[in-house]
Amino acid sequence: MSFIKDIDSIREIAEQKRLLEYLVFDKDFAKKFEADRKKTLESIGLGDLDTEHAASLYKEFINKKTLMRESVKAAGEPSNPQFAKWRNRQIGRCTMMFSKEQSDSLVHLPILFELSKGCSIGCKFCGLNSGPLKTVFMATEENKKLWADVMDAAVKLIGPAVGEGICYYGTEPLDNPDYGYFSQDWFERFGKYPQITTAAALRNVEKTRELLKQLDPFKETIFRFSVRSLDEFTTIAREFTPEELLMVELLPQFEEAPGNALAKVGRNATENEYSGTISCVSGFKVNMCDRSISLITPVEASERFPLGQIELKKVIFTDGEDFERKLETMISGMKTILSPNEKLSLYDYLYYNVENNTCKIYNKYGVGYQFDFPDYSDLIQKLFDSLNSGLYTRREIVEKLEIKNAEGWDSLAFHSIINNMWNRGLIVDSQLYE
Ligand code: SF4
Repeated sequence: MSFIKDIDSIREIAEQKRLLEYLVFDKDFAKKFEADRKKTLESIGLGDLDTEHAASLYKEFINKKTLMRESVKAAGEPSNPQFAKWRNRQIGRCTMMFSKEQSDSLVHLPILFELSKGCSIGCKFCGLNSGPLKTVFMATEENKKLWADVMDAAVKLIGPAVGEGICYYGTEPLDNPDYGYFSQDWFERFGKYPQITTAAALRNVEKTRELLKQLDPFKETIFRFSVRSLDEFTTIAREFTPEELLMVELLPQFEEAPGNALAKVGRNATENEYSGTISCVSGFKVNMCDRSISLITPVEASERFPLGQIELKKVIFTDGEDFERKLETMISGMKTILSPNEKLSLYDYLYYNVENNTCKIYNKYGVGYQFDFPDYSDLIQKLFDSLNSGLYTRREIVEKLEIKNAEGWDSLAFHSIINNMWNRGLIVDSQLYE
């Protein structure tokens, strides 16, 4: 899929994007624009822009870009069935935990790699509360071999979905002077460069410009620049043409920006006020410096999970072979089926309503769906009430229904309803919260 129809529309879309960026970064811009459109457009170098025509092209561009998130999510499905099932359940859980906008933005990468430890930028809003930069995974001969072995093992166990991953997380990709080596290797393996988000786009403008050449408007890779002040934004707008930034999302990461959408998570959560997540992984975070593998998945940030993610397990590996062994063990330890002895419970952020053989299940944002049943609303009501109480195992819940009176329904059908709800991430996953 390409985001743009033809090369002729690139300039118009890019300029419209630039105009919208001024609107979301500069709180005074909208007023100036309303007062004198022509003069304001000229002042930012967009004097020739036909905003009406450009707006319709831009809308199409954005719609296609939004669809890309879904395709990244789909392409991120691991080839290992156990991992795929586990990840799908986390996707379902997040759909019902967050607002639609938030859950749509989560791509649930199956794996990502950090090429440094800590981060040199120290953003005050850092959602992952990254500490100072400690080490960098340079492309030495020894590290190149470790990288190749780790990548080979990851692809062997997870499949081509690895290519949807990224080479940063609680790190700044440009902190690694050898980032280019690893992204080139990535390109050779997967036929595309890994996406980056950088807060250091202005550190070395020529180097950044070089990196931007990896972006092809007819392909799907996008980059993101975290922009921490209006000054930084105007410098970026001066240094890079709108066309150069067509495939770069500029993120307004400062309070005064009208478009700032910082989640209350990590360092940005103050006075115990938490909300949202910036975690985009339901899978593995591999740090190449300390040789660690963590299994993580997004969750609404809270005092218990201040980073908006749950880390289920973390292990250290010594070399490529050990990485493969440990990754395999972690995958086989993923909980995919309900154990017969556990007491089941619906997540406490879910509400339900049974009426006319239909059960609507939804969250506080109104996100939800409905289960339709051929008959026996009273049994369905009982089933949801038992689940909601958190007191019973699957077998006990089904026994309590006394379904012998229900024609055409047997206990297996109710077991299957419960299993279905579990697979959709509606029932508390004890492994996440142990
Ligand atoms: S937000 Fe990114 S660039 Fe900023 S401190 Fe955190 S990891 Fe570093």
